[in-house]
Amino acid sequence: MSEHVGERPSWDCRSCGMPWPCDPAREALAAELGPIQLAMYAWANLEQAAGDLPGMPVGEMFDRFLAWTRATPAARSMPDAGHPVARRVSTRS
Ligand SMILES: [Zn+2]
Repeated sequence: MSEHVGERPSWDCRSCGMPWPCDPAREALAAELGPIQLAMYAWANLEQAAGDLPGMPVGEMFDRFLAWTRATPAARSMPDAGHPVARRVSTRS
């Protein structure tokens, strides 16, 4: 089994060579960890990567390591019926 894990210090995926976390790695992590654990794990990786890749802009780092954790399948499947915007849209006809 080829694991999609980041190769340090380049932070490219050991399996597919894409910048880690690649899509398969994100899916696997999101499936394995809860939203909170996922965010903590992402932070830990961001901090390590910041040390390994000092030339990478902070914004790029944030998008790559952290931003995606907010759009996990678990987050998307959360009930949004009570969300003000969703309610407003659904009642408008
Ligand atoms: Zn990969």
